[in-house]
Amino acid sequence: MRSDLSRTMLDVAVVGGGAAGLIAARDIAGAGFRVVVVEEHAEIGTPVQCSGLFSIRGLRELELSPPEHAVCGVIRGGRFHSPGGEVLVAHSRLDRALVIERRSFDRYLAEEALDAGVQMLLSARVKHVRVGSAGVRLALPGQSLEARLVIGADGVRSVVARCSGLYSPPELVGAAQLELRASWGEEDIAELFFGREWAPGFYAWLLPKGENLLAGVGVSGARGTPRSYLLRFLRHHPALRGRLSSEKALSLHRGCIPVSLPGRTCAERVLLAGDAGGFVKASTGGGVITGGISARLAASAALQALEEEDFSESFFRQAYERRWREELLKELEAHALLRELLTSLSDAELDRLFRLAIQEDLPSLMVRFPDTDRPSEFLRELMQNRRFASFLQKALLSDGADV
Ligand SMILES: Cc1cc2nc3c(=O)[nH]c(=O)nc-3n(C[C@H](O)[C@H](O)[C@H](O)COP(=O)(O)OP(=O)(O)OC[C@H]3O[C@@H](n4cnc5c(N)ncnc54)[C@H](O)[C@@H]3O)c2cc1C
Repeated sequence: MRSDLSRTMLDVAVVGGGAAGLIAARDIAGAGFRVVVVEEHAEIGTPVQCSGLFSIRGLRELELSPPEHAVCGVIRGGRFHSPGGEVLVAHSRLDRALVIERRSFDRYLAEEALDAGVQMLLSARVKHVRVGSAGVRLALPGQSLEARLVIGADGVRSVVARCSGLYSPPELVGAAQLELRASWGEEDIAELFFGREWAPGFYAWLLPKGENLLAGVGVSGARGTPRSYLLRFLRHHPALRGRLSSEKALSLHRGCIPVSLPGRTCAERVLLAGDAGGFVKASTGGGVITGGISARLAASAALQALEEEDFSESFFRQAYERRWREELLKELEAHALLRELLTSLSDAELDRLFRLAIQEDLPSLMVRFPDTDRPSEFLRELMQNRRFASFLQKALLSDGADV
């Protein structure tokens, strides 16, 4: 899609029409600036690389109200399976999270962005970004765009980050997910399965989605592909008893999840948001709410820069990095700690942790502190329990040796 956008200086070019890019673009255009979202695919919302599980509190914080037709279910709790078959259930009577059709969600965000005045450039892959003294030049096939600043919201393999020498996640989790025409368990419970045999370095999941079921696996440092682990999980996991089959699949989603803390997320005339900046919860892999918060902070920093005509790196460090550190870092670090714990324990140690959790009634703590976007309070409370504190300290200090 060639456009006459090439002839004008834009205020902001947002690379990537996913959740983070659309949220940032909407906020900036809403303040009256000229914003273009450049998206490599022909359609917003595809391909889907997400389960669509978003906390209700997080959606509220982002001031988002997805349309009813996009909402496929409500989650009130979780069932957690240890490698050796211990089961922990934390179920509350309150609605905690929504299961949302991600394609419809992104389309809703795109409609909000368009209504705010954003221009959309589809089927347009940014190949290169170069920062000059007067602006940023984006090279696309057959044309180029110029803007006063660029927001890289182009996902885990961000071209904007690479061209600017910014964040590049040292660790990725590979994930595969099938949407099955099947049902499983309770309609308001997400199930998580741990164990090196099924999902080394992460976990497998079952998530009810209306009449369907999402079954997925994330792996890191594994020998096989995520898809091969997913098929094995469905066929052989003892808790599934062979009742779910990949032959009932409607679609296969694949993607990568950055699970390292964000690093440098700004340079002169450049900001990174969402997966491109590493704003993902390392222990769960969820990135839409945290990425959305980073997008709003990036938009606010961009607005300040446009008003003050200061696009320097030092300005963005104050206006953006300092703010996301205040808002998000403590919680992202808590997720990183939980991930470190889960990946460093052997399967036998994880079984022991589950048994301890059952004895010490961990589920009531999980019900009291259900906010998976902000787990630091939960961790702090957990460490008040002497048996947990001693187990976790030994586990982290011994880096997985028998505890
Ligand atoms: C299997 C799976 C399940 C998940 N489930 C959940 C979940 O339940 N809840 C949750 O919160 N998170 C989940 N996540 C993570 C979540 O999907 C991401 O954190 C989220 O999509 C990040 O949004 P984003 O806008 O930053 O990036 P993306 O959604 O990746 O969007 C980036 C956009 O940039 C475009 N783009 C990339 N490069 C270019 C380029 N050079 N030029 C132009 N356009 C470009 C892409 O086409 C894409 O549209 C899941 C991830 C996976 C893989």
